[in-house]
Amino acid sequence: MPSPRQEELRGRLGELGFDEVRFARLDPPVPREGLSSWLDHGYHADMHWMERTAAKRADPRLVLEGARSIIILGIDYFLGAAGHSGGRPKWARYSLYEDYHDTVREALEKAGALLQGMFGAGPGDYRYYVDTGPVLERTWAARSGMGFVGKNAMLISKSRGNWLFLASVLTRLEFEPDPPVSARGEPGTVGQLCGKCTRCMDACPTGALPAPGVLDARRCISYQTIENKGKIPREMRPMIGDRVYGCDTCLDVCPWNRFARGGRQMILSSRSDIGLMTLREILGLTPQTFAARFKGTSVKRLKLAGLLRNACVAAGNSGDAGLVEPLLGLLGHESPLVRAHAVWAARRLGAGNRLGGPRAKETDPVVIEEYEAELPGPC
Ligand code: SF4
Ligand code: SF4
Repeated sequence: MPSPRQEELRGRLGELGFDEVRFARLDPPVPREGLSSWLDHGYHADMHWMERTAAKRADPRLVLEGARSIIILGIDYFLGAAGHSGGRPKWARYSLYEDYHDTVREALEKAGALLQGMFGAGPGDYRYYVDTGPVLERTWAARSGMGFVGKNAMLISKSRGNWLFLASVLTRLEFEPDPPVSARGEPGTVGQLCGKCTRCMDACPTGALPAPGVLDARRCISYQTIENKGKIPREMRPMIGDRVYGCDTCLDVCPWNRFARGGRQMILSSRSDIGLMTLREILGLTPQTFAARFKGTSVKRLKLAGLLRNACVAAGNSGDAGLVEPLLGLLGHESPLVRAHAVWAARRLGAGNRLGGPRAKETDPVVIEEYEAELPGPC
């Protein structure tokens, strides 16, 4: 049983704004097989840092020598229907906040101060991460009983659905572990409480979930629209539909979300205004308006060219001939990435006969290849 001091820590971390606070022991480490097999299949696409950090990911004691426990912190970001503005392009719900990496980090600093003040930990006795560190937060969260890993490869909380940001604190302090979720099925197995449901796998527009809990990033719209810094493969573009940043389809369909109630949002700052932008507005962004509009959000890391690339794909899929003009305007954009996707979109909207002038001026081989590619099918 956790000590009263540990429960006091849990309560005080809750007061900082963490909606879920759970503890797990770092011994034994995560079995390497699952991660190794995923990497061997190349499912990590070009995220090569995942290969380089595989050993650390399996065993956090390689990240912080002598670490014994991990505190897993969950921040509920459920927005209700607010994440989807009818008729507007779609954004992953998490992007409709100020960048949680920044906002949650401030709370993690305070969590570290608590470990120092309450338990006499030194600054080297703990290390915290929010999503970006070499820590399999989702796996540890399942071990801590915060939820289970669903067939959609996400952590699913029985009381919050799959709308949790995860952060973690590795520490040399030893805490009593919380029990894994109790129910039928082997604790810690993928899909432990999914039963016969396969909704997420069936709903994925690109077939990016080839097996329960296995994500093929190469086929995932979230990867293609956020992590991929280059061209989006032509064959994938029609499947992206109206998504301009990420994809929530395999999250939206999960029936466990009927229990989602929303968190207190103490350490999140809503930017739901982003979800109100039209495609035309996005296509018309300049370096200045992009910087002003997305300051402090995760979208800023995509940079203007990345967002315009995605917006071109969504425009090409829209069937809206009214977007041809802004697309033609982007054929003179300084970024070849943007020009290439604008060519694809304009052709897909049936404006191929208006591309002769810009084609004659184009010198970049990547863009020329788009002009010469087989014509995309109709929307
Ligand atoms: Fe498929 Fe979208 Fe889920 Fe990626 S995020 S696995 S594309 S449903
Ligand atoms: Fe599991 Fe169904 Fe949710 Fe997928 S949609 S994670 S199969 S419960």
